[in-house]
Amino acid sequence: MTKNRRIAVIGAGIAGLGPAWQLARRGWDVEVFEAGTLGAGATSKAGGMLAPTAEATYEEEELLALELESLHAYPRWIDELQSAADVDVDYRTEGTLIVAIDRDDAEALDRLHDYHQRLGLTAERLDRSQALELEPGLSPRIHRALRVTSDVQVDPAAMLNALAVAVTRQGGTIHEECPVEALDIDDALRGLILKDGRRLPFDHVLLATGAWTPQIGGIPEGVLPHVRPVRGQMLCLGLGDPPLLRHVLRAPDAYLIPKSDGRLLVGATMEERGFDPHPTAGGFMDLLVGAWEALPGVYDAPVLDTWVGFRPITLSNHPTLGPTDIEGLYLSVGHGRNGILLAPTTAYELASWIDSGEPPEILRSFAPRSPSSPPPPAR
Ligand SMILES: Cc1cc2nc3c(=O)[nH]c(=O)nc-3n(C[C@H](O)[C@H](O)[C@H](O)COP(=O)(O)OP(=O)(O)OC[C@H]3O[C@@H](n4cnc5c(N)ncnc54)[C@H](O)[C@@H]3O)c2cc1C
Repeated sequence: MTKNRRIAVIGAGIAGLGPAWQLARRGWDVEVFEAGTLGAGATSKAGGMLAPTAEATYEEEELLALELESLHAYPRWIDELQSAADVDVDYRTEGTLIVAIDRDDAEALDRLHDYHQRLGLTAERLDRSQALELEPGLSPRIHRALRVTSDVQVDPAAMLNALAVAVTRQGGTIHEECPVEALDIDDALRGLILKDGRRLPFDHVLLATGAWTPQIGGIPEGVLPHVRPVRGQMLCLGLGDPPLLRHVLRAPDAYLIPKSDGRLLVGATMEERGFDPHPTAGGFMDLLVGAWEALPGVYDAPVLDTWVGFRPITLSNHPTLGPTDIEGLYLSVGHGRNGILLAPTTAYELASWIDSGEPPEILRSFAPRSPSSPPPPAR
């Protein structure tokens, strides 16, 4: 029997709405189920840095290749999304400055630069005066800096709104305040069971529930990767006029992201505290000291807002993208620290896989594992 082209997407974060939009564009009938309201998850709490070079991590070259592919897809993604939704997502291309404050940081910066060169990534070394020329608000104490012009940024909350508009304009439906309790699976996937007890039949389900993924019931053991919440606290300061900063600034203990609407985001902690929603004085103190050491002007900046978000992180740090062994069940989970960066590839490639049944080459190493295969190495 031919299955229909009707799909339930669980979770209205970037990992759900991106593929939902692309599937709707391919003619699928899409219904998105979101437990809270739009922006309830990690996506709207993110900084929006698209920074594979600045964030390049030793021994994660496979993930880096996926991130670079996604970064290259960004200009097309932004064009298509902004024109589909008529929403400006504040795509900014000034680039990133990574600064070293003391001698140890300077050595770490040199090692990162060597690593960039080995991988063929471009970053320019700047001495103190060159860095200060680009950003006069930097502390005169900094040793040196790396400038990465290929790393760019967006406003993730604006992008999420744009995606919601794009999904609905394309004929999809988003059900907010509609938590899914479990998947309805016996010898095959039957559909969803909502928290209010309703059973909805679906032949196709895309699970994109971020850090909450293990809480969905009804899924046989071994089908889902291990996903946990890694908490991030963030502060939002006033950027000032003239703005304190134009580039994204990565200091050893904090990063600072200027937005065009006058906000300056300062982030973010990485904490293993489950879903604890309470911000801490210590977390904010660390971020503010880290920000102030690099950009002393933040001392006088007004605090506009603070928040906590939960990154969905797997043991391997890799996202899991693609069809599972249960026919009709697909995963888009575990985007970790880089879900905003990975948005275009997740959306275009996963939708193509679901629609055509053909695995895109770039996603092969991120496909869900069969329950019988050994677990991936933890990092
Ligand atoms: C502080 C912070 C800073 C970050 N900065 C960056 C950055 O600069 N660049 C970058 O690329 N990435 C960044 N990230 C990472 C990025 O935000 C995440 O990787 C990405 O948002 C994950 O998207 P998602 O759709 O998987 O999860 P989410 O956005 O969390 O969405 C999951 C959704 O599923 C819903 N849901 C859960 N359970 C159910 C259920 N049972 N039924 C229905 N709905 C359900 C949730 O309510 C939620 O809305 C940052 C994250 C944090 C926390």
